[in-house]
Amino acid sequence: MQTEETPSALHSKVLIFGSGPAGYTAGVYAARAALSPMLIEGPQPGGQLIITTDVENWPGDECVLGSELMARMGAQVQRAGVEVVSDWIVDVDLSKRPFVAMGDGGARYTADTIIVATGASARWLGLESEDAYRGRGVSACATCDGFFYRGQVCAVVGGGNTAVEEALYLTNFAKKVYLIHRRNTLRADRTNQARLHANPKIEMIWNAEVAEVLGDDRGVTGVRLRDCRDATERQLALHGLFIAIGHDPATAMFRGKLHMDDEGYILVTPGSTATSVPGVFAAGDVQDKLFRQAVTSAGMGCIAALEVERYLAGHNTHAIATEGADAGGAA
Ligand code: FAD
Ligand code: NAP
Repeated sequence: MQTEETPSALHSKVLIFGSGPAGYTAGVYAARAALSPMLIEGPQPGGQLIITTDVENWPGDECVLGSELMARMGAQVQRAGVEVVSDWIVDVDLSKRPFVAMGDGGARYTADTIIVATGASARWLGLESEDAYRGRGVSACATCDGFFYRGQVCAVVGGGNTAVEEALYLTNFAKKVYLIHRRNTLRADRTNQARLHANPKIEMIWNAEVAEVLGDDRGVTGVRLRDCRDATERQLALHGLFIAIGHDPATAMFRGKLHMDDEGYILVTPGSTATSVPGVFAAGDVQDKLFRQAVTSAGMGCIAALEVERYLAGHNTHAIATEGADAGGAA
């Protein structure tokens, strides 16, 4: 990709990728620090919370619709003076200063600093029936939705640490939790496995996959399970189905340009949002595979903006424009 040394008309001191809780919070803090940030909304304005219903763990709101919460954050960002651009980034050059980012429609953005807040998305099984009941009994987040299943029966699909931790968490509310796994050994670590097997509310269903999610007007009523060994099928009655088969961070365009772990999460300096390239910061689900919450993402967005402010205070714009590729850190 071609780069330029001279800032373009679309130049900003801080360019934010993403309009979820991390990106919006970074925008508000950067605007209040008089950094005139530009925020690229991306393919899902408002981020992941747009696709959920009730959010009951956002501080200050006992219960708020995900879409309403994100609309309020979006309005606050506009009022704070952030320049919000309806575009998404398809390529970046982090090897020269200013940084260059290419928009989907061909726009060329340049920036002294970048905050990456492009989030992550849950992997789904890919069943039509799963899609039909998403938000009406099918979820990918027990911390978010487990509360709704007090005294009911739930199942979790998956065999990794996330699936086991989701199952354990659900036992705080549900009277019974099935853990459905396609093999007969778990990927989860020994500590989690020991906790799982010690919990009387959890029952393992080995060598099984969900063939169909069953339901009615009120939501999920059960699943049709298929045995992975002999393809025999049976039905299981339940109210909540949690899919925990992994997440994909939206980081493809940073491959080879920022240090990442083997799953594509951006690596940051512990206790900071600084990435392997000075001047590039990462906040929210794009760098956090453990907590994945709106409030933690917003907190990281705040930290990123404060770190940008400190970074810019220590580098004048001329120095940034002439810094070489030596500061870069490919994965
Ligand atoms: P996201 O919200 O994922 O936002 C990412 C942003 O990046 C999007 O705006 C997208 O358009 C943008 N983007 C992506 N690619 C590009 C690109 N190439 N260029 C520019 N922009 C790009 N958390 C809770 O705390 N409570 C809940 O009740 C809750 N419920 C949930 C329910 C569901 C169904 C889901 C899926 C998640 C839920 N979560 C909940 C988790 C929460 O939504 C996430 O932790 C949070 O949204 C992460 O925020 P983020 O800003 O890091 O990323
Ligand atoms: P993961 O370790 O990749 O496990 C995904 C699980 O989902 C696997 O058991 C896999 O089955 C199953 N799976 C994948 N696709 C499936 C499909 N289409 N249908 C049915 N099952 C499917 O993912 P994760 O559990 O989200 O963990 C991600 C990373 O975060 C891991 O490194 C994990 O250790 C880490 N993590 C750590 C902690 C902790 O340390 N406390 C907590 C959470 C996550 P197979 O086993 O058959 O492949």
